[in-house]
Amino acid sequence: MNHPLQCRCGTLKGYVVRPGTAKRAVCYCKDCQAFAHFLKRADTVLDERGGTAIVATVAKQVHFTQGLEALACMSLSDRGLLRWYASCCNTPIGNTPRDFKTPYVGLIESCLKSNSPSLEDSFGPVRMVINTRSARGHVKSTPVSNLVAMLGIMKSVIATRLSGSYKRNPFFGTETGTPVARPRNLTKAEREQVTSAA
Ligand SMILES: [Zn+2]
Ligand SMILES: [Zn+2]
Repeated sequence: MNHPLQCRCGTLKGYVVRPGTAKRAVCYCKDCQAFAHFLKRADTVLDERGGTAIVATVAKQVHFTQGLEALACMSLSDRGLLRWYASCCNTPIGNTPRDFKTPYVGLIESCLKSNSPSLEDSFGPVRMVINTRSARGHVKSTPVSNLVAMLGIMKSVIATRLSGSYKRNPFFGTETGTPVARPRNLTKAEREQVTSAA
């Protein structure tokens, strides 16, 4: 069974193929916090320490089945990660590198809420915490065995690239690698506003 993906209002829908290589992580970096503030979803996306729960996987395992026109893209700077969200209801969807030849996506768990299968059923426990220095309060760091599990994803990313199947990426045009929604880079003033909220 695949794991369902959808925005809050149900316009954008899709699924993540499983079993896959996906692993769960929590990122405490300032940029992920700023993204939640940009969407005005900090209350539902961030945990009490400012962490964003992520399912890290290979982009070709993600499929959209409806509402693709609602998918929008922003970036905190002109070189930053592309941050994807459903513009209908400001649900964060995921983060990708700018170059589709690195076919990685960090899906934000708020678009993967499901009772059956649960996040735990599909992707197991949270394996890794990253950028804990910008967490509010102390967060226990990741055991080495879990880091090894996360490295498995990078191996899949590299294998996907070598096999050429990186071109199957729902966030980018197949041959061109052009993002399916034009990225909006925040201006310096806009970036300062969302960063200071974080
Ligand atoms: Zn929506
Ligand atoms: Zn982050």
